[in-house]
Amino acid sequence: DVVNFNQFFNRIIDRFELSKSQNVTFHRILPDVPYYVEIDTDKLTQVIDNIISNALKYSPDGGNIRFGIVGKDQELKVMISDDGMGIPSENVERIFDRFYRVDRARARSMGGTGLGLAIAREMIEAHGGSIWAESEEGLGTTVFFTLNIEQDEEGEWD
Ligand code: ATP
Ligand code: MG
Repeated sequence: DVVNFNQFFNRIIDRFELSKSQNVTFHRILPDVPYYVEIDTDKLTQVIDNIISNALKYSPDGGNIRFGIVGKDQELKVMISDDGMGIPSENVERIFDRFYRVDRARARSMGGTGLGLAIAREMIEAHGGSIWAESEEGLGTTVFFTLNIEQDEEGEWD
């Protein structure tokens, strides 16, 4: 489907904001101009759900989660950042490996299988985009992914 990504993203963030039980504040840094992308909405929902669930799982009480979108040329960059415990730099790239979890003891108590981000990478790459993370231990984590912006063929004439 071709969807207005801003609207699609906002709806997912709304769902988490309404149902979250933690004391975590959401901040949306979303542009007013709509960006259209051609995506499998079920798959992208699964990707974003996992990234937001991770951010919530690792957020401290009173933490903040920031949601951003930046459009440049043909590419849309989406960012989800938290100010949680972070990931040691030598392990950041490994979080996209199947079954990889940073701290086994802590991960066990958090539940989950360690598959979420591996699946997310597969799905984003199937859409022609890329996904990566930047993190600093003790400061937080940002997950980025890109999608191709759909050029409207019709042209928008006012
Ligand atoms: P699942 O998603 O299958 O329920 P999971 O959340 O453990 O399980 P992934 O989403 O693939 O698996 O994440 C892999 C690991 O990366 C996590 O176990 C955690 O150690 C680390 N991680 C992911 N996101 C964050 C984050 N925002 N802050 C800190 N660590 C993170
Ligand atoms: Mg996960």
